[in-house]
Amino acid sequence: MSGETTQPKRLSLTAKVLIGMGLGIVVGLAINLTGLNAKGSWTELYVVNGLFHIAGTMFVTALKMLVAPLVFFSLISGVIGIGDIRELGKVGAKAFVLYLLTTAIAITVALSIAHFSGIGQGVELSSTATFSAKEAPPLSQVLIDIVPGNVVNAFATGKMLQIIFFSILVGISILMVGKKALPVVELVEISNEIMMKMVNIIMAVAPYAVFALLGKAIANLGLDLLADLAGYVVVLVGVLLFHLFVTLMIILMLFSGKSPGIFLKKMREVQVFAFSTSSSNATIPVTLRVVTDRLGVHNSIASFTVPFGATINMDGTAIMQGVATVFIANAYGVDLGLTGYLTVILMSVLASIGTAGVPGVGLIMLSMVFTQVGLPVEGIGLILGVDRILDMIRTAVNVTGDATVSVIVAKSEKKLDETIYDDPRAGLLEEEIAIDEEVEHELAEVVEEIHEEIVEESRHKRG
Ligand code: ASP
Repeated sequence: MSGETTQPKRLSLTAKVLIGMGLGIVVGLAINLTGLNAKGSWTELYVVNGLFHIAGTMFVTALKMLVAPLVFFSLISGVIGIGDIRELGKVGAKAFVLYLLTTAIAITVALSIAHFSGIGQGVELSSTATFSAKEAPPLSQVLIDIVPGNVVNAFATGKMLQIIFFSILVGISILMVGKKALPVVELVEISNEIMMKMVNIIMAVAPYAVFALLGKAIANLGLDLLADLAGYVVVLVGVLLFHLFVTLMIILMLFSGKSPGIFLKKMREVQVFAFSTSSSNATIPVTLRVVTDRLGVHNSIASFTVPFGATINMDGTAIMQGVATVFIANAYGVDLGLTGYLTVILMSVLASIGTAGVPGVGLIMLSMVFTQVGLPVEGIGLILGVDRILDMIRTAVNVTGDATVSVIVAKSEKKLDETIYDDPRAGLLEEEIAIDEEVEHELAEVVEEIHEEIVEESRHKRG
């Protein structure tokens, strides 16, 4: 064997994830187009809803498992890292304003482009799918809900704003207790490091999981529906891509002066995860890792901006709401007028604050917007069939917005490590996952020592 002399070139994990994604799409399409996903067929039972479903769901569940403890520990250590409560308020205010601003820009652009494209005119109103309206919770309730009445419940049900609120309060209290709390500070910091390692472990299986997730999603897609709604899909995807590659990148350059090229390259991994899971929340561990380790945002900023953004910032979702509103208004021949459009902008920005970044939540927000402007909620049935794939794309846009704002806030707070940002190899996963030989050796010695101690002790007891 010549293996010893010629070192095979190893693929990076990001490359493997991208390959997993490509193969997943190809296999999913093949299953869909050949009808192998027909109900009751063995491929549908054992491959799509068997193997793909099990592997994909286990992976997403594992990511979700990490979210609450990761946000808890990293946010406490972030607050301790900032050290000054006023600074903390400044970071929060900047992130909040930028998140609302980017969302408002997103939906305004979406409404304008959709309006001038005239989509939806002459569409046949023969939707069979039904959709029931959801009332928007009043703003007062959204604010009240930030405070967890029961911390265990907040963690158990993954209420992000409540977890953020509690973690910040714990961090501030630790700062106020001062020196006496040092052991807790150390505990939190080590726990944070442990959680980040756990993210890396789970990421090691990402290429296979992404393959399974996409294989299943694409196999189950109604591709014919995609053609029926071509106008809606094309305008929506166009605006989503425009926001991702143009608007957000201009904002990034204007406010941080950093290169969009490097940013987009490093964000690819996060976007693939958001795309495969359709959930900004489940993607938090990956976003946090890339934003800190690869883009150089200090944990004191990222630990707050990332989970906060996953909850309140949804540029992609807002774009979908803008395009869908115009599409359905035109289909029903309703003229919304300027006031209607302004209400839509305001409503979708507000609706994004109180809703979590989970699959399909955009449609629920859309029904809140429709009730507000008096559009028929059953119109949502028209676009229901294609929403699965569009949810994937808009979630990738959502997480890109979160990371953009994180970099901008970090830069303005002088908490952006530009050497990390500019280094293409910084924080590459394969280097993180590998336990280096020295550490492995040390670990073996420690285990050996512990073992000897136990043997010695039991000998002592017996003797
Ligand atoms: N799935 C999206 C997210 O998690 C929300 C949505 O648009 O439905 O960010």
